[in-house]
Amino acid sequence: MAIDRVEGSIGGDEGMTVRGGCLCGIVEFEVDLPFTKFVKCHCSRCRGATGSAFATNAYVLPPAFRWRSGQDRVARFDLPLARSFATSFCRECGAPLPHTTRSGREVIIPAGSLWDDPGVSPTIDACWQSRAPWLSDASDLPTSD
Ligand SMILES: [Zn+2]
Ligand SMILES: [Zn+2]
Repeated sequence: MAIDRVEGSIGGDEGMTVRGGCLCGIVEFEVDLPFTKFVKCHCSRCRGATGSAFATNAYVLPPAFRWRSGQDRVARFDLPLARSFATSFCRECGAPLPHTTRSGREVIIPAGSLWDDPGVSPTIDACWQSRAPWLSDASDLPTSD
């Protein structure tokens, strides 16, 4: 992602932990709040990695992240052409999972893999100029449950 690093912390009560995992449930993890960043990224890599209009990623420092189960089922892909772009996913169900950046300085957590509500929302739409041309304005759409 080509975004500026934003220092600080994004919401959540200090000391609160949220859990997450993959679709099939083999992999579980937990994260200590607060996040250092909470970002929607519209770049073409994030769209390709998620199969969606954008990635929604939370960031924490490595000590705030722990695998609870299934770590040996987690696969990682480092995009060879990229300076640092990577993805992780469950080998069984393919669901996106957290990964440490190549620098080792941060852990990136796909927010859709969280089972608990972190109590905060993303603070920026990154790579907005790269957004999918078919992306609709959510406020213009009818809703369905
Ligand atoms: Zn799985
Ligand atoms: Zn991106």
